[in-house]
Amino acid sequence: MKAIVVEKFGGPEVLKLKDVPEPKAGQEQILVALKAIGVNPVDTYIRAGTYARKAELPWTPGADAAGVVESAGAGAPFKTGERVYVHGAVGGVYAQKAVVEASRAFPLPDALSFEQGAAIGVPYATAHRALFQGGGARRGETVLIHGASGGVGVAAVQLALCAGMIVIGTAGGDDGVAFLKSLGVMYALDHRKPGYVDEVLKLTDAKGPQLIVEMLANVNLAEDLRVAAQRGHIVIVGSRGPAPIDPRYAMTKDLTVRGMSLWNMTEAEREHVHADLAKGFASGRLKPLIGAKFPLAEAAKAHAAILIPGARGKIVLLP
Ligand code: NAP
Repeated sequence: MKAIVVEKFGGPEVLKLKDVPEPKAGQEQILVALKAIGVNPVDTYIRAGTYARKAELPWTPGADAAGVVESAGAGAPFKTGERVYVHGAVGGVYAQKAVVEASRAFPLPDALSFEQGAAIGVPYATAHRALFQGGGARRGETVLIHGASGGVGVAAVQLALCAGMIVIGTAGGDDGVAFLKSLGVMYALDHRKPGYVDEVLKLTDAKGPQLIVEMLANVNLAEDLRVAAQRGHIVIVGSRGPAPIDPRYAMTKDLTVRGMSLWNMTEAEREHVHADLAKGFASGRLKPLIGAKFPLAEAAKAHAAILIPGARGKIVLLP
């Protein structure tokens, strides 16, 4: 079978399509014939060799995908032919097939395509964990989703709206604002416009949002601390460097600033999150949005594309 193999860390050009032996499923594992693969920013950080979690080389990237069960070990509760989405594989998922622990595979709802299935694992589970576990999101509260147009942002918008929250979202440019309005956010702001954070205060009668889900903390954390509501919560999902902050805001407003990593989720938490997501997919209120599609052989182009601002919808690879 074909798979992307990385033999040395570096730029997108180190992603090479190669022939590799087909893997076999063990006792509590399934072999999945992949139909679509989700590309996440973290795949690019690991490929570059700059991420805290180092991959062992040679390495096949990727955690998110969807496909059809080709074979199942005796202890795996899946049938051959079943449609599944997966989050995490024994090797990576930038491949035609992958072996997956049964606990990392979930039935793909009928209403969702394979491409949509490949857009669930990292984005929706991260957004769910950030809002509810990290931020204690509650109906009627105002949430600022800072970076609402990306993979995690779109999922966070849909989940927050389902939970009955008032959503302020940010995106880049007029097209980004229009995109957020199409998702149903109440207020959409352009994070490229100077002074846009003051709009957050105006929209909340100077009180500030009770919850901020932050996708780019190195740029925004200082302003988040300034505008967050008294006793508010800031959940850091993404950061690409250090952030200069004034801790006094955290002190005077009793703020909680909490980081979160999806990779720290326990098995029980993962089960709970995916069971909850399944209800949202079944009701049609959670709907992964697909953006650019690339053949697996062009994974390098997908890695370059995901780091360019302005992507609307999840980038997927087609094996
Ligand atoms: P993505 O699809 O590439 O989206 C990036 C988002 O950041 C877009 O909404 C982009 O908006 C926005 N952005 C750009 N400039 C911004 C600014 N100045 N202020 C606020 N937002 C800005 O990435 P993603 O998959 O949603 O992930 C978002 C971040 O979270 C990434 O850094 C990723 O590595 C991280 N992440 C962390 C975890 C975890 O476990 N902690 C899990 C998943 C992702 P425009 O393109 O419209 O400008």
